[in-house]
Amino acid sequence: MIEVNGLSKSYGTHRAVNDVSFNISKGEVVGFLGPNGAGKSTIMNILTGYISLSEGEVKIDGFDILENPENAKRRIGYLPEIPPLYVDMTVREYLYFIYDLKKVKFPKAPHIAEIMQLVGLEDVAGRLIKNLSKGYRQRVGFAQALVGNPDVLILDEPTVGLDPKQIIEIRNLISKLGTNHTIILSSHILSEIQAVCERVIIINKGNIVADDTLENLSRELSKDSKLVLSAICDGEKTLEAIKAVEGVEQADMSIEEDTTVNFVIKPIEDADIRANISKTVTNLGGTILSFKVEAMTLEQIFLSLTEEVIEEEYEEEIIEENEEIIEEEEAQEDDSDI
Ligand code: ADP
Ligand code: MG
Repeated sequence: MIEVNGLSKSYGTHRAVNDVSFNISKGEVVGFLGPNGAGKSTIMNILTGYISLSEGEVKIDGFDILENPENAKRRIGYLPEIPPLYVDMTVREYLYFIYDLKKVKFPKAPHIAEIMQLVGLEDVAGRLIKNLSKGYRQRVGFAQALVGNPDVLILDEPTVGLDPKQIIEIRNLISKLGTNHTIILSSHILSEIQAVCERVIIINKGNIVADDTLENLSRELSKDSKLVLSAICDGEKTLEAIKAVEGVEQADMSIEEDTTVNFVIKPIEDADIRANISKTVTNLGGTILSFKVEAMTLEQIFLSLTEEVIEEEYEEEIIEENEEIIEEEEAQEDDSDI
């Protein structure tokens, strides 16, 4: 459905996207994950024909975005980072306006009514957009993307700036739309992608650094998992016995405050050695204090793939976002639900 080959984009001398290639099949829900400035919006703007590419090729449903822009664009609904809403129009007026702009062929009123029902805008159809909350405005953004029934939806950070309740509503909406659309969704937050996508393309500094299903990425990570065991026992003797357990590749120990011994045990791939390890320790008269699997989390792999992103930077950003939300909520106390 979406074919991207050797795509690059430079702004002046700055290369924002560097030789990116990927294919997305019909019906897939794919996440673009990467820190701010990674190039997510740039790629999305190119896919939707908003900005030109410097090098490479983009095809939507077989139509080249440069050679056949009308046919390619008609298949895409785009929710940009900042949706271009006309706030002095009512919701219905605005969607009628978008309908005319997109030169849609279906009967107007039923088509728009159907979209408003799908995204939950029926109750506010006659209200001015400027009087809607951010959550409802975002639904209007979704609605305009859906006008003309495009097969592909491209959603740029669709939940940024929303409160937790609104985030859940928008996520549910994306999941619903995912049953009959091909979707690309961008975010700089992993959990956001995990909640709705099957596949993730991790982008850093204009390059794709990973492209796989979340399931495969997790499985890949569990290969590096280790067991960490704390016990009160005879360290040397227990370590020897642990090393002799079938399926143990490597084991090390460190002694903590004389009595507690910590073992780090690496199993041979796919071997589940937990029961045998635990028996070995207790058979030698040891007492197990704790026993856990230590695997790299997806959050860690994301950070290691995008290593220059410092966690603090995220925290600051989240604090800023929360402050913005609080300010907005205070400003809208009267109509916080709509
Ligand atoms: P993301 O959406 O992942 O945050 P962007 O695609 O917005 O990233 O930006 C990628 C890089 O391109 C950044 O370094 C950004 O500063 C730069 N950039 C984006 N838009 C422009 C522009 N119109 N002119 C110059 N540089 C830009
Ligand atoms: Mg962006």
